[in-house]
Amino acid sequence: MLELQDLSVELDRRPVLRSLSLSVAPGERVVIAGPSGSGKSTLLRAVAGLAPVRSGEIRLDGRPVQALPPGQRDVAMMFQSYALFPHLSVLENLCFGLRARGMARRDAEDRARAAAHTLDLTPLLARRPRELSGGERQRVALTRALLREPKALLLDEPLSSLDTQLRVRARAEILKTHAGSRAAMLLVTHDQSEAMALADRLGVLHEGRLLQLAPPRTVYAEPANLFVARFLGQPAMNTLEVQLALDGGLWWGETLLSRRLVSPPAALGRRLVMGLRPEHLSLPGSRWGREEGPGAELQATVETVEPLGEQQIVWLNAGGQRLAARAEPELRVGRGVSLPLRLALTRACWFDPDSGEALAPASGAARA
Ligand code: ADP
Ligand code: MG
Repeated sequence: MLELQDLSVELDRRPVLRSLSLSVAPGERVVIAGPSGSGKSTLLRAVAGLAPVRSGEIRLDGRPVQALPPGQRDVAMMFQSYALFPHLSVLENLCFGLRARGMARRDAEDRARAAAHTLDLTPLLARRPRELSGGERQRVALTRALLREPKALLLDEPLSSLDTQLRVRARAEILKTHAGSRAAMLLVTHDQSEAMALADRLGVLHEGRLLQLAPPRTVYAEPANLFVARFLGQPAMNTLEVQLALDGGLWWGETLLSRRLVSPPAALGRRLVMGLRPEHLSLPGSRWGREEGPGAELQATVETVEPLGEQQIVWLNAGGQRLAARAEPELRVGRGVSLPLRLALTRACWFDPDSGEALAPASGAARA
């Protein structure tokens, strides 16, 4: 069990991590996603003992480890460059960490061969790293890290050096490799699809603050604030500034979206931001985005269409505001056409326009 409590890190007297708390259970995968510069690498470096902790505590299995040097922390860290030894075979690379900790050669090789067998690496054992594909190298490096049976496994953007096809396969490899392990896995990435795919729980980091930590589906459906809403999703969540009138009507500028919301998210008379994912906007004739229950209609003009194969993304303009909708690939959508767009109001997220915080309590939201 890896626990961070109120962890703060300053570099060059600038706060980089601000009172960050989280825990990773044995065998659990927690993924922290955030834009470049948000503090992801610093977080892992602090856990590994490579960045100075200003305040707060890091515990492994209940034991504070801050005072321990990196080598005694029982954590394994893997960076995006895998750092396999180029002159050693895969088998020797796998054995290296075990041998370094004093295990006899025979025992180390037995362990390495067993792990290689489980993870389909046996045919690669005699090869050198340069004779492996990027994905294979990544598997070997990950297997080597796990063979040491660390209490925590820290991965910093482990897939960023792979090309797109390989990255998707490598995600599956990470899941498979970690599946039998008791190591608490903490992975950081700027890539939201990678984060969604790998996380048991997903955290979003922004300027050193953990904004939300919850199962990926929850973070996607109930973002804690506008930053999280816009960070996750391709395209990002659509957001409209609306007004909840005193009679319960929901207005967007001069347009009445709904006469009366079933359960108004806030006091009547308030300004709000309404968020709707592209899959909750539905084009006429589309099967996608149709929801039972109250909806609203908005006249919009098609600007561009992006056919993505399995779906299309339709960019629209409604009163000067850009909106994105998803539709099935077969739907014929003409550019420049004006059409009524249906909004699935039951799926809307609501935010305070000033603070950006979600109005309905979002799960796993960081408390101020
Ligand atoms: P990420 O991995 O999310 O891109 P980092 O943890 O690398 O972010 O960096 C977070 C912030 O800390 C950035 O603003 C970066 O410039 C700063 N930073 C990182 N390393 C150092 C350092 N050694 N000294 C001073 N500032 C640093
Ligand atoms: Mg980084």
